[in-house]
Amino acid sequence: MGIPENAAGIYRRVSQALKRSSKPANEVRLIAVSKTFPAETVAGAMDAGLYRFGENRVQEIISKYKELIDRSSVIEPDGNRAPVEWHFIGHLQTNKVKKLLEVPTRYIHSVDRLELAIELDRQLQKRGESRDILIEVNTSGEESKSGVAPERAIQLAREVAGFSTLKIKGLMTIGRLTDDAEVTRACFSNLRRLSDRVREDGIDRVEMSELSMGMSGDFEIAVEEGATMIRIGTAIFGGRGWKI
Ligand SMILES: *Cc1c(COP(=O)(O)O)cnc(C)c1O
Repeated sequence: MGIPENAAGIYRRVSQALKRSSKPANEVRLIAVSKTFPAETVAGAMDAGLYRFGENRVQEIISKYKELIDRSSVIEPDGNRAPVEWHFIGHLQTNKVKKLLEVPTRYIHSVDRLELAIELDRQLQKRGESRDILIEVNTSGEESKSGVAPERAIQLAREVAGFSTLKIKGLMTIGRLTDDAEVTRACFSNLRRLSDRVREDGIDRVEMSELSMGMSGDFEIAVEEGATMIRIGTAIFGGRGWKI
């Protein structure tokens, strides 16, 4: 199947999951994870009306952003014009921050440590800019995953909130890779509860309106648990072969 059919299938499954949900988000935004696919494939997705793209490597997001800079908006299937958004969703090394900021990202989903926030703030100060960010939380307990430990998340949010260039909009997580749907669900419901606790903490300038959770294999569970952004690669673009 092609990208338009795949996207339509995802929208249909999202609306069904929303009906089953006891805590549905007002809106679930689809982020098409285009990592490893060339700019022409992204251009094809734009022709199909997709306009939010997620990338996990700094060099790759910069080169696609630059290649597609003339396509700053997209016509959706309903005829509306929507601005193209670039989302950085991968692990971010401190020494790549300066490069990443060449892209006017809509959200950086993966702020997971203070040193990273310090460098983002330093480089953003120089540019006279700010960015909307999410705090990435490791809800699966897997050591290989990035993300702050849940018990440290509120403390990190307090620290990051001190930087006027960084606007915390919510939390992000990667669900545990497992066949057990209830284990996956626990990752997502834990993230939602954590975001409620951060909100109750009432930290100045911290908004907890976004929950970025759910990928091709588990997005329906994430939507049932309140996701506002789902990050979908394989189910839109097909397999990436051996690449992550
Ligand atoms: C690759 C990736 C995705 C998308 O994964 P699929 O299983 O292909 O949908 C989502 N989030 C992050 C952080 C990723 O790296």
